[in-house]
Amino acid sequence: MSLPTVAELTERCAALFAQWRVLDTRIEVAWNDRLTTTAGRAFQKRGRIELNPKVLARAPDQVSMVLAHEAAHIAAFRLFGANIPAHGRHWRSLMRLAGHEPAVTHDIPVDDLRAAARARPRRATFVYLRVCDACGDRQLMAALRYGRCGGCDARDSFLVMKARAGAAGRAALERLTLAQVRAAFG
Ligand SMILES: [Zn+2]
Ligand SMILES: [Zn+2]
Repeated sequence: MSLPTVAELTERCAALFAQWRVLDTRIEVAWNDRLTTTAGRAFQKRGRIELNPKVLARAPDQVSMVLAHEAAHIAAFRLFGANIPAHGRHWRSLMRLAGHEPAVTHDIPVDDLRAAARARPRRATFVYLRVCDACGDRQLMAALRYGRCGGCDARDSFLVMKARAGAAGRAALERLTLAQVRAAFG
């Protein structure tokens, strides 16, 4: 599968901004092959998105999710201002509107993402790491459940990371520390 062109990516961003009712639709998208540790990044004030072609060539099915992830950062900045958490409820609701799980999959270290892509099972199933933000209780789940934390009884204080099902995906999630998960959610 080949990667989409900058023109195609720019068009997809325009569609996302229209769906999100973002009036300021200026956007600049670029492939940047010097990116190493992330699949993509957003420069909110400049309205620029950079995507990592090396990582996404190995996981081309993730391009639209990563693009939406970065576009949602810029949209959230334009809609709600600078003083919101990076992956908080504003960003999450934009991701849901765009039809994506608001999980921070691409913040998994690049090597793990590559391994997970290589070890991709036939069906696109996922494994989830659910971490309680209140007490740090960790649950690795094949089917995501919310509700009360078994560790501290807090309700809906979960941070969820997602990876492809399979040994590589599970291992990538298991290696994540609480600090890394919290950092991913800003
Ligand atoms: Zn992000
Ligand atoms: Zn808890």
